[in-house]
Amino acid sequence: MKLNTVREADLTGKRVLIRVDFNVPLKEGVVKDDTRIRAALPTLNYILEQKGTSVVVMSHFGRPKGQKNPDFSMVPVGKKFEELLGRPVKVAPDVIGEEVKKEVESLKAGEVLLLENVRFYPDEEKNNPEFAKELASYGDIYVNDAFGTAHRAHASTEGVAHYLPSYAGFLIEKEVHFMAPLLENPDKPFVAIIGGAKVSSKITVLESLVKTCNTIVIGGGMAYTFLKVQGHEVGKSLVEDDFADTAKAFLKAAKDKNVKVILPVDHVCASEFDENAKPVAVDGIDIPAELMGMDIGPKTTASIVEELKSAKSVVWNGPMGVFEFAQFAKGTEDVAKALAESKATTVVGGGDSVAAINKFGLASKISHVSTGGGASLEFLEGKVLPGIKALEK
Ligand code: ADP
Ligand code: MG
Repeated sequence: MKLNTVREADLTGKRVLIRVDFNVPLKEGVVKDDTRIRAALPTLNYILEQKGTSVVVMSHFGRPKGQKNPDFSMVPVGKKFEELLGRPVKVAPDVIGEEVKKEVESLKAGEVLLLENVRFYPDEEKNNPEFAKELASYGDIYVNDAFGTAHRAHASTEGVAHYLPSYAGFLIEKEVHFMAPLLENPDKPFVAIIGGAKVSSKITVLESLVKTCNTIVIGGGMAYTFLKVQGHEVGKSLVEDDFADTAKAFLKAAKDKNVKVILPVDHVCASEFDENAKPVAVDGIDIPAELMGMDIGPKTTASIVEELKSAKSVVWNGPMGVFEFAQFAKGTEDVAKALAESKATTVVGGGDSVAAINKFGLASKISHVSTGGGASLEFLEGKVLPGIKALEK
């Protein structure tokens, strides 16, 4: 996958329309976590360092459902953005309309205008071509750096690309740089570690990664459906019986492809799903009837750690257990640590897995921590992300 990147664009004297993901958490009008704003700064600074450039920035924020709801205004986000960018940021009074147009046309070199929330208009998510054309009229070229929304074909993420020369920002470039090889030609041995709650939400990613990986680890709540179809006792663990055949077919496909599958061989269990549940170690594959699996056990962790020793690339998506409850977090934490220590190229994607990596303070030791939950999952599923397709050479 080859993208047109902003580095290749002739920016001199251009007004650049850029889509970023400034969908940050806000509390009482103050940005609580500015990670996403920081993530867009390299691209914005690069553009602004070129001669005679000005920038029109667009993002969504929350779910205003196509209404101009002041609770979802970009104004507080603009404040933080201005502080981090270190130059004045003007927030436009709207997304489209005469007033916005005037502000756009009066932009001078070095100036930055942040549009109001693009989701104030239902046309954004409907990808209305007229709306996209209007947005496109604000710039000479279009740069997309919003990986987190690249799986959505919206006006600001896909529609505008039909009307302007379009380039990827550094963030999208980096995401694709780390993730595309996993589906195309990963450095081998390639180990995929997939966990999380449900088979139903991860089966497509399993079916995609099994094509290129050497080893696939299945942990978390989804492991018990696989153990059950293998004839093991899983007690009260999370099981999706509707997916029994799918799980069976997956195990067969992995076997046919000579892909090693690692499933839990021991567990940390509980008698109920509760924050204060007492952890019970189960030193074997079978789980007693009155218990449910909440985390992988130490033998399972050891076999994952062993597997990672020789790995050249590793992708991790989905926690190994209910890591939100401290007594069931050890499997996830130990796997995270093993990834941090690994010499392989390590990629972590998925909302909760990324939260886990951050919680354990290990993000800086991972080659690439994806900024998009849904987008990274769809990418790993092998789906074409419309926002990225629009930037392909
Ligand atoms: P990600 O967001 O990284 O893709 P998922 O959303 O698929 O991950 O899954 C995360 C959720 O899976 C967490 O909330 C975690 O508590 C849950 N989970 C992990 N292991 C189990 C288990 N054994 N039983 C029930 N839920 C689990
Ligand atoms: Mg999740």
